[in-house]
Amino acid sequence: MRVGLGFDYHRLETGRKLILGGVPIPFEKGLAGHSDGDVLTHAICDALLGAAGLGDLGQHFPDTDPQWKDARSLDLLARVVQRVGEKGLRVAQVDTVVIAQEPRLAPHFAAMKETLARTMGIEAMQVNLKAKTTEGLEAIGRGEAMAAQAIALLETR
Ligand code: MG
Repeated sequence: MRVGLGFDYHRLETGRKLILGGVPIPFEKGLAGHSDGDVLTHAICDALLGAAGLGDLGQHFPDTDPQWKDARSLDLLARVVQRVGEKGLRVAQVDTVVIAQEPRLAPHFAAMKETLARTMGIEAMQVNLKAKTTEGLEAIGRGEAMAAQAIALLETR
């Protein structure tokens, strides 16, 4: 078994769609980024790559490469899972925390889990989502950014 950790942090901007865990979430702002800015999916990708000893997301999909401009993060996750699979590993479990002041994410967790699990080729019960605020403190608390943490457990096939 192998374990990996992922973290990501993105700026929130007006005029962008908010996508978290591959699911569009109604909100006045969205996450900035070269791709769709899906901070949660990026953290999961890094956790999976870390567990497989495959470096990080930026090495595999550099933001200097126009090929990945406005990429769907779910497509990047699918590619990451494929590369993990090529190392003879499969996803056993993923646990996550999204750190955001607003909006309330719990009502979207079921759809996010389903979407993430389907993309990784696992069951929804193998994915756990949690949300935290920073109680109004710092950039996240002011609604300027969101962060996500993820941990992944891989097992040999
Ligand atoms: Mg990112």
